[in-house]
Amino acid sequence: MAAKRKGKIVKISGNMVMIESNEFIVQNEVAFIINGQERLKCEVIRIRGNRAETQVFESTAGLKIGTEVEFTEELLSVELGPGLLGQIFDGLQNPLPAVAEECGFFLKRGVYLKALADDAEWDFSPEKKPGDKVRAGEVLGIVPEKIFQHAIMVPFGLKGAFEVTDIVDPGKYNLKTVIAKLKDVDGKTQEVFLKQTWPIKIPITAYAEKLKPQEPLVTKIRIIDSLFPVARGGTYCIPGPFGSGKTVLQQLTSRHAEVDIVIIAACGERAGEAVETLKTFPELIDPKTNKPLLDRTVIVVNTSSMPVASRESGVYTAVTIAEYYRQMGLNVLLLADSTSRWAQAMREMSGRLEEIPGEEAFPAYLESRIASFYERAGAVKLYNGKLGSVTIGGTVSPAGGNFDEPVTQATLKVVGVFHGLSRQRSDARCYPAIDPLISWSKYKSFVEDKQVKRGHEILRKSQEIAQMMKVIGEEGTSLDDFIDYLKGELFDFVYLQQNAYDPVDEATSAERQKYLFNFIYKNILEASFKFSGKDQARIFFQRLRQLFRGWNSSPWQSQEFKDAEKEISSTIEEGLAAREKTGA
Ligand code: ADP
Ligand code: MG
Repeated sequence: MAAKRKGKIVKISGNMVMIESNEFIVQNEVAFIINGQERLKCEVIRIRGNRAETQVFESTAGLKIGTEVEFTEELLSVELGPGLLGQIFDGLQNPLPAVAEECGFFLKRGVYLKALADDAEWDFSPEKKPGDKVRAGEVLGIVPEKIFQHAIMVPFGLKGAFEVTDIVDPGKYNLKTVIAKLKDVDGKTQEVFLKQTWPIKIPITAYAEKLKPQEPLVTKIRIIDSLFPVARGGTYCIPGPFGSGKTVLQQLTSRHAEVDIVIIAACGERAGEAVETLKTFPELIDPKTNKPLLDRTVIVVNTSSMPVASRESGVYTAVTIAEYYRQMGLNVLLLADSTSRWAQAMREMSGRLEEIPGEEAFPAYLESRIASFYERAGAVKLYNGKLGSVTIGGTVSPAGGNFDEPVTQATLKVVGVFHGLSRQRSDARCYPAIDPLISWSKYKSFVEDKQVKRGHEILRKSQEIAQMMKVIGEEGTSLDDFIDYLKGELFDFVYLQQNAYDPVDEATSAERQKYLFNFIYKNILEASFKFSGKDQARIFFQRLRQLFRGWNSSPWQSQEFKDAEKEISSTIEEGLAAREKTGA
């Protein structure tokens, strides 16, 4: 083996360390600083002549000029294979609960653990035989992993056509065993294991075709699915001020969204918040399987107390794991909370590199980094014809909730959906606090177009009338306008708002949403109520509010559900009859 290329530290500035070397250096290559017994990982981020600037994934305290550095010839990579599900990693894919046992909650400097246990055994069943022709991404066999059949695929980095020369019999194998040998056209042999590695900053593209995201991703959150839908393979963002419900919304989505696998990239606002995620998540039960939600989840956690470079890499680690499961024909949802912390990590590093700052001191490449992160979402058709998807939802936490700032703006340029949370709504405890007047989606809802359109219209109108009433008072408002105002309020209260703490109301199936929206459209939004006066109207809508609340917490199509519907229908009939009594 060739001698390792080496260099020496010539400058230290926080987590940025400059290395001088007379060897060639590769952009984004990983190197290790050899500090006595410690080996500290770093990544080359800029090369100038014989000097490379690197970001160190550790505290650099105590490092000295002249310390030796060893290059690895590898890009920053993750391990992909059975055993990922249920794990909690840091941004460098160190498993955290294992870390907790070794050295308290977070890692000691220079300690890196294996992401996947090498000696764990997995039940492998081959699906190919010697003589079969394969290419990167094709399935060689499967192993059961929790509730899934985990596909063992030809390493994604292999280029060209291969022939299977050897493949093991069905049986138990660990991650160190060669399970297949492949021969390329020149006769060169390639060994395949149950795991492979992949550089996190490069998308995995071992599929036949990228498709336009079209199929709705049902989140079971009514305001999202009906009015501002997300598509499988699409992208969405949730900007909102501190405390407006971003994290709660993402947790609800991770439990209820109709996807196979959820990957969470938690970039903590404060150190305590990420820890909160770590504590609550393992306790959550998957409503679909009644098993721990963690069984179909991978969490990548970064707290603000972790070094800036590992905060920056966390989202790439997460999206690479998401792409890996997409390659198996699964639907994956990646939730990044909050991408503002990721952007801040970029800003800190850019500052240390003394790059020319852009708006609010973010680097000029902020937009392109954000765009290329969201571009890794997508619905794809695999070589075997199966479909898979990665949907990316990211929260943004702009200071003061002002969306007119670089991270929110750059994100809005690339995503398919905008769920803007408003302080006003969260203060009024209208949850989820997605503001229907500023939010938008480019994807199609499963609710009929004309109904969605009417929904938007009534909300806007109701808001306008409310504004006007503030100025001219209720007396100056016509009865018809007043009724429209009440219709919008009711629609908001009984449909857009959802009680996260009610076991039925917290999640609404697509079927139930369509039914309920249609009911409200026909019987309320399109109905022409003519009351004797505003008081009568107010009392009527107040009564409906209560009835709907009961309806929303009745299990779908239960007796309770049917009774509540009947009562609402007869109340509405009375409301319509009021018109006859008043002779209109
Ligand atoms: P953010 O992540 O935007 O800072 P959180 O998601 O942590 O905000 O929410 C802050 C608080 O608001 C929660 O602790 C909870 O009390 C309340 N909250 C948020 N969303 C909901 C909801 N859907 N239902 C009820 N309460 C909510
Ligand atoms: Mg939060």
